[in-house]
Amino acid sequence: MIGIGDKRLAKEEYIDLWAKEFEVNPSEREKMYLNVAFPYPSGAMHVGHGRTYTVPDVIARFWRMRGKQVLFPMGFHVTGTPVIGISRRIAKGDERTIRLYRDLYRVSQEELSHFTDPMVIVRHFSQEYERVMRSLGLSIDWRRRFITVDPHYSKFIEWQYKHLGAKGYVVKGIHPVKYCPQCENPVGDHDLLEGDKAEILKFTLVMFRSKGAFIPTATLRPETTYGVTNIWVNPTISYIRASIDDIQWILSREAAEKLRIQDYKVEILEELHPGSLVGERASHPLCGEVPILPADFVDPDVGSGIVMSVPAHAPFDYIALRDLQRQGKYLDIKPISLLTAEGYGEFPAKDAVERACIDNQHDSRIDAITQEIYNAELIHGRMLDKYGGKLVKQARDEITAEVIEHHHSISMYDFDVKPVVCRCGGKVFVKILRDQWFLQYSDTLWKDLVYTQLDRVNVIPNETRAEFERTVGWLKDWACTRRVGLGTKLPWDKAWIVEPLSDSTIYMAYYTIAHKIKKIDPQKLSPEVFDFIFLGKESPVLPERPLLDSMREEFLYWYPYDFRFSAKDLISNHLTFQLFHHIAIFPPEFQPKGIVVFGMGLLNGTKMSSSKGNVVLLEDAIKEFGADTVRMFLVGNAEPWQDFDWRNELVYATKRQIERFWNTIIEITKVSSGRIITKMDKWLLSRLQSKITKITSALESFQTRQALQEAFHSVESDLRWYQKRSVNIGGSSGALKELANVWIRLLTPYTPFTCEELWNQIGENGLVSVSSWPVKDEHKIFPEIELAEELIMRTVEDIESIRKLIKIAPASITLYCAPEWKWHIFKIISQSKERVTAISEIMQNPKMRKKGKGVVNTSKQITTLIHRFPPQLVEQLQNNTINEISIFSDAKEFLEREFGVPVHILAAEASDHPKADSALPFKPAIIIG
Ligand SMILES: [Zn+2]
Repeated sequence: MIGIGDKRLAKEEYIDLWAKEFEVNPSEREKMYLNVAFPYPSGAMHVGHGRTYTVPDVIARFWRMRGKQVLFPMGFHVTGTPVIGISRRIAKGDERTIRLYRDLYRVSQEELSHFTDPMVIVRHFSQEYERVMRSLGLSIDWRRRFITVDPHYSKFIEWQYKHLGAKGYVVKGIHPVKYCPQCENPVGDHDLLEGDKAEILKFTLVMFRSKGAFIPTATLRPETTYGVTNIWVNPTISYIRASIDDIQWILSREAAEKLRIQDYKVEILEELHPGSLVGERASHPLCGEVPILPADFVDPDVGSGIVMSVPAHAPFDYIALRDLQRQGKYLDIKPISLLTAEGYGEFPAKDAVERACIDNQHDSRIDAITQEIYNAELIHGRMLDKYGGKLVKQARDEITAEVIEHHHSISMYDFDVKPVVCRCGGKVFVKILRDQWFLQYSDTLWKDLVYTQLDRVNVIPNETRAEFERTVGWLKDWACTRRVGLGTKLPWDKAWIVEPLSDSTIYMAYYTIAHKIKKIDPQKLSPEVFDFIFLGKESPVLPERPLLDSMREEFLYWYPYDFRFSAKDLISNHLTFQLFHHIAIFPPEFQPKGIVVFGMGLLNGTKMSSSKGNVVLLEDAIKEFGADTVRMFLVGNAEPWQDFDWRNELVYATKRQIERFWNTIIEITKVSSGRIITKMDKWLLSRLQSKITKITSALESFQTRQALQEAFHSVESDLRWYQKRSVNIGGSSGALKELANVWIRLLTPYTPFTCEELWNQIGENGLVSVSSWPVKDEHKIFPEIELAEELIMRTVEDIESIRKLIKIAPASITLYCAPEWKWHIFKIISQSKERVTAISEIMQNPKMRKKGKGVVNTSKQITTLIHRFPPQLVEQLQNNTINEISIFSDAKEFLEREFGVPVHILAAEASDHPKADSALPFKPAIIIG
């Protein structure tokens, strides 16, 4: 028991008390295992990270209060090269990096001087992360914390790869990487000054012959070689003649350097004059002899610096040729059609260029229409019969193989965008790594297993399922090892280190044992140990048997995990990879059950980015606004899968809401005691029951925003109405105290610090964080009382809007209530699907028939009214009978006080006032006199 009486605990004291409660062990209770993509602690956390961890925390706190044994663990991912790059740059005195760490992340000069050791950076920020996560109130079991370079974890990764290798899922191949010759190292995206989004393209060099040398033309579409009408060179640059693997080539100087780094023997023989190639001829077996022509769009730094021209299908080629022909040159060259593509005529490039009204080869839109034709032809295109008649996709692979095998073609790698520059300032190239290890995600049998499993995973929101399916479909082999970086060595080839995305696929299973495995000497952690813990395989060589038994028990209790939370940009890699690895390692009963995918974080409408400085640090936000405000804003501003936008003014509004909540609870607890239960008390508690249901089901489906709307705003507005209605009648402290007790618990997952204090203030014992979640009490539900108040609320609103319209001070208000027969019509129409059949049903009644046209008009009005009412209200009105006159008579005093004039309540039928006739069920006619 804690914090009783006047003693208020400090925030830190709650954090310490919670820490023990959130340490969970296998028990008789039902479990709920939630986890989140662990962070890479190389810099300070911003509020975007804050949301990633707060959403699962709110859900964890909710299920804990629902009585489940909830596990929410956290580890730190430190493998790979980023942190090594950072330490190297700091060691070199790189100003930009130092500024980022010193000024934005506020690392002290003293600490920064030790950042030349990557492990110091990792330790520094993982400690910082834990400290900030604790101060945010995250309900993490910190005993299970680990970092991915712990020797125990490495043993776990070795075990995993041993299994993947045995199943044939890890294969050898060649792999292009980004490489800086100045640093003599492969470079990761974090090591780049420019071009971090650059992708590596694989070109095929189609080799033309001209005067004893090869002229290589770089293309992504070798199947179009049949349609080549000419070759393009840039007339303003000097090409070179070089010996490439002892054969003479003509190509750009830049291309020769690239081939040198891609392991070709390159010797430059001579430099050619600009334009000297123009007018020469070259030939290829697939298209015959063609002229070499000039075009400005040709970039010496892309591919070989020379391209083949296919004007029927390539917009650049079409326009460059048209430009020349407009000058009256080369009029005999005609585009050659090769294939048919949906939505295009004989010459797709011509169609697209003319549709877009593109005038010359410098128009910036040509890239976009090139991409558009590329996609259209690749997806639906079919080669003409004389070129084999196959689908373009298939023809491309076959013709690529053919030109490589028979016509001297080679593959050449290059970037899709330029420039790509290393932090050292040097130009980055594509280098080929041989003996690279790949995870064979292209394996169709493996894919099929994942597809089948994916159908069973609860993907939230369900719309993202298609993206998972697409990813499983297009995933190719993944280079899973690197030469440099922190991490675990591949067990059978120690020259390689398992790269970060590949060593973080099944670590959710490791959390179940992380706190216990630390007690064992890592040397003893043979594959047999993990086979026993995770697969239940017995072995005579198992050490520390009792400890292993308890780890097996942990795994069996917690696994599979129930939900994994992660940002949506991880669907295309991590979130899908982990499905592959689970199915490869674990039996069917331990496969992931659910995945919740997050939207992105914005700051004042633009994407948050640490490297651009466009972030609010989580710790600063907590200091300025308080942890509860930050939490409530991050999960209440948008549903988890929507993008959220951090704006200070909105965060301040959240802070004020929490202050109002605090003040209201304090006021409630001061109300003098009284045991009378008024109608309004019953109303307040009745409404609360349906809110409990709505909030519970919203949180069960992760709608943190929807749940907060009900738990905060809707309760608050009920209280306001209650207070308005209870003046003079006097509210009872019983109802308010009950409301306070429930309200605090409903908000505890969102604002745990405030709620713990208030729980103490209202005299409750223990921690509210481990109290029980409110449950709906059927005995406290009074639909008729709720309906009566709804009628009064709606009528007050109507009176107010009429008063605004007429703009005169009223002397009195008269309410005419609808007669019985209109209610009869209301019930018939609201229950029938077709209005026409409803009217004929009404007309079967002789009394109704007598009223004639009045019934038809009233039916029309009531139909409109029913459409305007919330469906839930219509349903309640069907199932309950209310007496409007008596409801208004009971509220007469309130209405007179509210509007400051006498209020008359009459049956519409008893009056001959012309407007009385417009009274409808649940919508009295209002006369302001
Ligand atoms: Zn470099």
